[in-house]
Amino acid sequence: MEPLDRSTIWPYREGEPGDFYYQRYAHPTGVAAERALGELEGGEALLFPSGSGAITALVLGLLEPGQTIALAGGGYYGTALLFEELARWGIRHEEFDQTGPPPDGVDLVWLEAPSNPFLTMPDFEAAARHPARVVVDSTAATPVYLRPLEHDADFVLHSATKYLGGHSDVLLGAVVCGAAEDAERLGAFRGRTGIVAAPDPCWLLLRSLKTLRVRMERITATAQELAERLRGHPAVSEVRYPGFSGLLSFDVDDPHKVETSLGRIENATSLGGIESVLESRARWEGDRVPPGLLRLSVGLEDADELWADLEQAL
Ligand code: PLP
Repeated sequence: MEPLDRSTIWPYREGEPGDFYYQRYAHPTGVAAERALGELEGGEALLFPSGSGAITALVLGLLEPGQTIALAGGGYYGTALLFEELARWGIRHEEFDQTGPPPDGVDLVWLEAPSNPFLTMPDFEAAARHPARVVVDSTAATPVYLRPLEHDADFVLHSATKYLGGHSDVLLGAVVCGAAEDAERLGAFRGRTGIVAAPDPCWLLLRSLKTLRVRMERITATAQELAERLRGHPAVSEVRYPGFSGLLSFDVDDPHKVETSLGRIENATSLGGIESVLESRARWEGDRVPPGLLRLSVGLEDADELWADLEQAL
């Protein structure tokens, strides 16, 4: 493994700063993790202290007051809340249906692939035809199933807290840039604003990326199986699953009963860890989601054990 270097300073050599001199600008563990993620996505990665920190840095680094973001409707609730906060700095947003073309006149198109928790996929071709730059939040897909830069996106966004970190033990975010000059500009903005990931989380990401593919393949096989069985269950009215990765949602009459009847599956928030978690999203999102919507993040447990738990809870 790459050694974990927590230094905040490195000595100048012969009176000149080298590649590393002050941790806020760059540190070896971060650079190694960025290289590994950049190779997976086919671009230049920059790491941030959380997915939300990455969104904040990207929007503030890219946009001016008075500009507008077209945001995929039905995507991560926290992104819409964050953009509402940024309205005080003159950045506006409007939601649109990402399965069709983005609205005219916006300055940035923000897609989510697949959206959390509605699990829709964007129309990448329609977004690429739009003159504005395109960001794809690819948290739930991971580069194992989607490389948005190959679909003409300009930036990929990750909450690396989820599948990339993968073990529910690291809060981290990433932006992967298709163009070197964008990475340079955003990297300079990150260094000045200090919205930068520390060495320890970067080291955990490096560890986790080594198992990303094998985790995702196993998680997908189990999620496909559970989606199929949920579709056949009489207590389930709708199942949303794009066919890959481990995030799915389904509707029941009494979500609280299901949440509190589970044994193997934890009733907890977030997604992308090796342990399966389930929660009612109306708790957080109110009437933005159907009242009975349950979101399930499938982990690495045995598929039959997970189904037995779901079945008895249903
Ligand atoms: N994007 C998506 C799709 C998410 O699900 C989340 C968190 O749930 C975020 C971004 C924000 O990431 P973080 O919690 O690491 O700030």
